[in-house]
Amino acid sequence: MPTAPEPTRVNGPTSEGEQICHIVTEEDPDTALCGKDVTGWPWNPPWPYCVVCLDLLQSRFS
Ligand SMILES: [Zn+2]
Repeated sequence: MPTAPEPTRVNGPTSEGEQICHIVTEEDPDTALCGKDVTGWPWNPPWPYCVVCLDLLQSRFS
């Protein structure tokens, strides 16, 4: 069992600049394709998609 305390989770982006829609996979729904921890973020926010996630998604299925 890990002994370190869980880091405090923040619901959603902490600043307006963070309001980007990241893409997650079914295997790891808490981590975006680009590596961003998106635990607790909304599923379908009306924000533009993260271009890194889009690139990685295309490379996965092409
Ligand atoms: Zn992303």
